[in-house]
Amino acid sequence: MDRILVAEKIAPEGLAALKAAAEVDVRLDLDKAALLKVIANYDALVVRSATKVTADVIAAGTRLRVVGRAGSGVDNIDVDAATQRGIMVVNAPASNNVAVAELTIGLLISLARHIPQSHGSVESGKWERNKFMGWEVRGKTLGLIGLGRIGSEVARRARGLEMTVLTYDPVVSYDRAVQLGVESVTIDELLARSDVVSTHVPLVDSTRNFFDTARIAQMKPGAYLINASRGGVVDESALLAALESGQLSGAALDVYSGEPPSNPTLVNHPKIIKTPHLGASTNEAQTQTGTDVAEGVLAALSGGTPRYAVNAPFVAPEAWNVLEPYIRLGRQMGTLCRMLVQDPVRSYDFEYYGELATIDTQPLRLAVLQGLLTATSEQRITPVNAPIIARERGMRISERSGPETENYAGLLILRAHTADEEHVFRGVILRGEPHIVQADGYWVTFVPAGPLLFTYHRDRPGMIGRVGTLLGGADVNISGMYVGRLSPREHAMMVLTLDNPASEDVMSQIRAEPDIARAYCVTL
Ligand code: NAD
Repeated sequence: MDRILVAEKIAPEGLAALKAAAEVDVRLDLDKAALLKVIANYDALVVRSATKVTADVIAAGTRLRVVGRAGSGVDNIDVDAATQRGIMVVNAPASNNVAVAELTIGLLISLARHIPQSHGSVESGKWERNKFMGWEVRGKTLGLIGLGRIGSEVARRARGLEMTVLTYDPVVSYDRAVQLGVESVTIDELLARSDVVSTHVPLVDSTRNFFDTARIAQMKPGAYLINASRGGVVDESALLAALESGQLSGAALDVYSGEPPSNPTLVNHPKIIKTPHLGASTNEAQTQTGTDVAEGVLAALSGGTPRYAVNAPFVAPEAWNVLEPYIRLGRQMGTLCRMLVQDPVRSYDFEYYGELATIDTQPLRLAVLQGLLTATSEQRITPVNAPIIARERGMRISERSGPETENYAGLLILRAHTADEEHVFRGVILRGEPHIVQADGYWVTFVPAGPLLFTYHRDRPGMIGRVGTLLGGADVNISGMYVGRLSPREHAMMVLTLDNPASEDVMSQIRAEPDIARAYCVTL
């Protein structure tokens, strides 16, 4: 059973999920030296932000396959060191999205209706109905700097409030913005047109002090600014000056350049609404963080592709539902090809058709590679190190995609070229489950899971019975049987799905049968 070390507190729901699948030790008391001492006993390590998972921790973790970060930032994890050792780093970057977006909308309405200030006024015994005249957000223009995970959720909610939403995000595609009902514009246009600007960018070089004196001066006179992203994105002295001059009518801050903020002018400014970095502070977000990280760690331990792997490609939420079963299929097709094609392969073609042609198929490519390489290396193969090993091995891969689908919603084709043959595998998703529809050129449709027995034989009466009798004699139960042939009495393939794998002894007896050229028992 896999062993997981949980070194920092995570939500009970996440812990329960881990405990249901592995042996879990919760050790919240470990300092660096103690962590270095025990880490070799674990397959997975789960941390939040306090534990430093440095290169020496990774090197000492000889059994480690995954490091899980309950949260989004991975500054405390040496991701490069992990990648080099084929260790996956998973996090939970999406669990806060709604919490931060809802707080942003709360701040927006608070700015419009002076809710915190009027609350304070009533509390102090006053009744100032005229002082707190507000404005409606409906029909106003909201400018979003950054249309990532949180920015997108804010956009959806602002559209619900009947606002016009603009965005400036150099990376996000025009189509994605259109999908969200958002107009993608230049930064100059966004600042000039927005009544309220809200920032949802990471703190990187290009966003540090993004809102400086010059940018704030470009904003519409009397506009509002909201920052629930990272403190350093707004130059606080430039903000104070703009509030004093009237260039800005108000601002709402959840994050500060130093936390807690020490500047009393900022903290006490009547035009600033402030919350103490509460963006992610909802019960739902905390629970979701715990369950997301647990799900990622368990997926990595079972050799799968976690949804949020830091050192493997990120799959956009819209693409995930489509891609997830194909990722399983790709891995299974790769393994099957590896087991059935015995001659040296000179090159591979990976082909993606139908619904696969319109999405980023990089995770699928990694899954097929992982399947092809598994069982050919002493190293543990993961989607993280598969491309590195493939490169080391000089594997030649070409990729193709197109709209045609042979009547399936999507179709994955893997071709392996040997010196004088082409071995073709076709896979599809039927009823949400991966199915192989062509195995090494033979048209057979089966679910590629559990123990499978393949025979390459000559099509003759009684073949199925003979194999069935040998398996029955060894108490191996057959759950499904599929046969494909090139033409009557010619080359054929039999695929049997089994409840338990056939022993080497039975396999030798099957291989010894006349007319059976080759036979393999493969567990997928
Ligand atoms: P994300 O990575 O999904 O999105 C960030 C977006 O910003 C990306 O689309 C990126 O293209 C864009 N971007 C990057 N540089 C830019 C630039 N110079 N100009 C314009 N756009 C740029 O991140 P996310 O999960 O949406 O998080 C957004 C921010 O919210 C982060 O700073 C994160 O730390 C912060 N956050 C705050 C809280 C809180 O408690 N207040 C909680 C969680 C996250």
